[in-house]
Amino acid sequence: MSNLELLPINIAGEWRLGGGGESTTLYPATGEVVGRLRAPSLEDVEEAIQKADHAFRTSGWAQKKPHERAAVLHRVAQLIRERAEPLAQLQRLDNGKPIKETRMLVASAATFQFFAAACETMEETITPSRGDFMTMSVYEPMGVVAAITPWNSPIASEAQKLAPALAAGNAVVVKPAEATPLLALELAKICEEAGVPKGLVSVLPGRGSVIGDAITKHPLVKRVSFTGGTSTGKHIAHIAADKMMPVSLELGGKSATMVLADADIDHAVNGVLYGIFSSSGESCIAGSRLFVARSLHAEFMQRLTAKAAALQVGDPADERTQMGPLITAKHRESIESYVALGLSEGGRLLTGGQRPEGAQFERGYYYRPTIIDGVKNDWQICQQEIFGPVLVAMPFDNEDDLLAQANDSVYALAAGIWTRDYKSAWRIGRAVQAGTVWINTYKQFSISTPFGGWRDSGLGREKGRLGIQQYMEQKSMYWGLNESPIAWAN
Ligand code: NAD
Repeated sequence: MSNLELLPINIAGEWRLGGGGESTTLYPATGEVVGRLRAPSLEDVEEAIQKADHAFRTSGWAQKKPHERAAVLHRVAQLIRERAEPLAQLQRLDNGKPIKETRMLVASAATFQFFAAACETMEETITPSRGDFMTMSVYEPMGVVAAITPWNSPIASEAQKLAPALAAGNAVVVKPAEATPLLALELAKICEEAGVPKGLVSVLPGRGSVIGDAITKHPLVKRVSFTGGTSTGKHIAHIAADKMMPVSLELGGKSATMVLADADIDHAVNGVLYGIFSSSGESCIAGSRLFVARSLHAEFMQRLTAKAAALQVGDPADERTQMGPLITAKHRESIESYVALGLSEGGRLLTGGQRPEGAQFERGYYYRPTIIDGVKNDWQICQQEIFGPVLVAMPFDNEDDLLAQANDSVYALAAGIWTRDYKSAWRIGRAVQAGTVWINTYKQFSISTPFGGWRDSGLGREKGRLGIQQYMEQKSMYWGLNESPIAWAN
């Protein structure tokens, strides 16, 4: 057992050891312990939520003028920028992503700046009235809201929820994934330093089925913003239905990436490669189902396979690394069993399908970029989310065939189209069922553009200027302008 000191968690602004069991976070590249903490007990969860509710009602945060709340959120963004490098290094240790990627994720956490602006510029409306009264649509904060996040993009996922929820005037209970608690704790420290009132932010790392469940069920929690797996999301939706509580659910994916016969091949090869193998494929939006025009299929697969085999897999601290380790040994085993399943279904392994060899890979949870073709879209390997560096590839014959296959999935999170023809891009872009469509690019994001999925990929949208209103209740007001009696009463 490591000698590292136990880290305090944040129970409504009080930094102390949780009353639950001990858990550790490991560096996926070596299996070394990088953090130890005690999870909260259920009593800690109760205390955090009660105090969050108290802070919401008494701290004055919700009553601050928008520009005053915005000023605090700008300070949060500024502190994230000032600490960008240590945060990126900590995230590398917590999650094992290559340092180049963790720098991008930390930079994206400055989304607090965007929601500061959204807070300060949010408009409420005076609506056309049908009488001698003024009618208005206004928004109120909800109270205590929860943010439940997965392990694959810590800090970015938490910031994406925390920033709009605080901007809206709420108190927030954050439940980061068991495997990656460290960045959420750092973010809470930054919020505190920036001037977010004590009690308004809690970070409760711990088991989802215990701590996440207790938070979701708590009567004082008025909304859950969840990012994670589809089965967990459905479980949360059931609880929400019983409480009549709004939720947003950002769930899994099996996104189609489509290469048309007229695509710029080099551009498409690089884009497809990045779409699936960046973040070691541990990405909800990974372009994990590839469809290539039959006339181009053989040449494209040959070029793609050669490039995939040459990707730099290795030490996440090395600036040249393109693919780091997977999150845990158990997750790697799950990916290995998916690859075995795909091959047993009749797929043909073009590259990968094994752990890399060499002393530098022995302790980490590495897996080589893997491409399987000769598959059919209805096979399990093409229908289930693997959440790792495994691409399945199929040819298509024409646009109808392409769309029928691409849309034949319970998931509908994202899609990619590679073509030089703007008319095909438009037709396919409109017909493909997905929350986000990238044309001649992939996995690019802008905080000002809404994000979310259809079907089993989720409910609701995050980001965008209106993202703040997800954390508010809408209210209509009718304001009588004279003393004349209401018609019926007269
Ligand atoms: P997960 O569903 O196992 O866990 C996500 C979070 O939910 C964790 O914090 C976990 O502790 C918590 N949780 C688990 N059971 C719970 C319960 N019963 N009640 C409340 N909370 C509970 O997912 P994961 O393995 O951490 O993440 C991988 C999944 O997340 C993949 O399916 C991936 O596609 C998805 N994901 C989606 C998006 C998106 O924006 N659509 C982004 C990233 C990841």
